[in-house]
Amino acid sequence: MAKQVVIVGGGFAGISAAKKLASANFSVTIIDKTNHHLFQPLLYQVATAALSPGDIAMPIRAIFSKQKNVEVVLGEVDAIDKVQRRVQLKSGAYYPFDYLVLASGAQYNYFGNDDWKKHAPGLKTLSDALEIRERILLSLEQAEQIIDPDRRKPYLTYVVIGGGPTGVEMAGSIAEIAKRSMMRDFRNIQPNETKIYLIEAAGGILNGFEEPLPEKGLKTLEDMGVEVILNSPVQEIRKNGVQIEDTFIETPNIIWGAGVAASPLIQKLGIETDRMGRAMVEADLSIPGDPAIFVAGDAAHVKDKNGVPLPGLAPVAMQQGKYVGNLIRNETMASSNRTAFKYVDKGTMATIGRAKAVADIRGFKFSGFFAWLLWGLIHIFFLIGFRNRFRVFAEWTWHYITFKRGVRLIAKKEDEDRL
Ligand SMILES: Cc1cc2nc3c(=O)[nH]c(=O)nc-3n(C[C@H](O)[C@H](O)[C@H](O)COP(=O)(O)OP(=O)(O)OC[C@H]3O[C@@H](n4cnc5c(N)ncnc54)[C@H](O)[C@@H]3O)c2cc1C
Repeated sequence: MAKQVVIVGGGFAGISAAKKLASANFSVTIIDKTNHHLFQPLLYQVATAALSPGDIAMPIRAIFSKQKNVEVVLGEVDAIDKVQRRVQLKSGAYYPFDYLVLASGAQYNYFGNDDWKKHAPGLKTLSDALEIRERILLSLEQAEQIIDPDRRKPYLTYVVIGGGPTGVEMAGSIAEIAKRSMMRDFRNIQPNETKIYLIEAAGGILNGFEEPLPEKGLKTLEDMGVEVILNSPVQEIRKNGVQIEDTFIETPNIIWGAGVAASPLIQKLGIETDRMGRAMVEADLSIPGDPAIFVAGDAAHVKDKNGVPLPGLAPVAMQQGKYVGNLIRNETMASSNRTAFKYVDKGTMATIGRAKAVADIRGFKFSGFFAWLLWGLIHIFFLIGFRNRFRVFAEWTWHYITFKRGVRLIAKKEDEDRL
């Protein structure tokens, strides 16, 4: 009988591991709490009405429709039994395994202030993106109806917390929407009334990048009208605004992109984790003392050759997923025979807005239009599905020529006062 491989998580790591097991004599089960693989690097484009949810997500079942040794299960794993070799879903159903790959990713971390979450959603899932889109669009509609400029000011104010790539991308895109692409459709509000703040606790933005890219990123954002506030940890987030030191910024539009932690499922392994909750895995990504259980992607703490933990990036997750898939495929059970996982860094990039990005490709650092073009081509290349690639290409070309954002729909109207 074929051995059973259970993969928890149909993200970048999980999908890559399962693909490596194609046409091998294993029975593979992918369990995910959503029914789709999500291309998270383009989530902010859904949140800012540039792309539709369907452009960046693909049903996991559809990805594996031709790979007959894969079964897909919709469900949330909430227990791992290492002795009986099975995982259990919230529903009570359980799935036995010979090999287990935990690729359950990460989630936002509010540093113990979980009540901030309802006022400042993070951007991690499609529903987060749709909620943020809804808030941005609704806010513009509300501002349009308020005559008194002082009263409408909070509705035209946006606060993004966290100066990493996600925060920078969000702030840049909101600046484009609020100061340019949608303004021609409104009659009362003016572009110069909108305020976009990017708040960062550290002394700079884009900390994972080497100079001069953070400096260029900062200047680009400022040129786009974003006010970047550095060295300012957020003290409080309320429904109607954000407190930083002695300043209160009044707004219902707050987006959290400040910190991440590994999925809570990792704690169920009962092994050592780092301060972000990531599993401290062996060099072959297996957990200490159990060579048939692996953790890959954002949920794993793996160091690079300089001893620095690898960042939570899609290429890291994909390479780890492929590596684990290969190990299982070759059934090299004795850990001592396995070669250690090695990350091949092909470069990092972040986009800031239309025709604006920063890139570091193997030490070659550049920014501006060519960085943005390369960013766009790479993202289209890695999207799953020809239809998605084609649609995103078409949307971006349209947006580039017309400045217009196509997906500006408000589906659920909030009647409550948002301040
Ligand atoms: C807004 C945003 C922008 C980003 N931009 C970039 C970028 O530009 N470039 C880049 O390289 N990286 C970027 N990243 C990071 C990148 O998306 C992650 O590093 C990558 O998704 C990690 O892959 P993964 O497979 O480990 O986890 P994920 O892709 O997060 O997949 C985890 C999967 O596990 C499932 N899951 C979780 N818990 C359970 C459970 N208990 N039971 C069942 N299923 C479960 C989830 O539903 C999910 O499908 C970005 C991330 C975000 C959020």
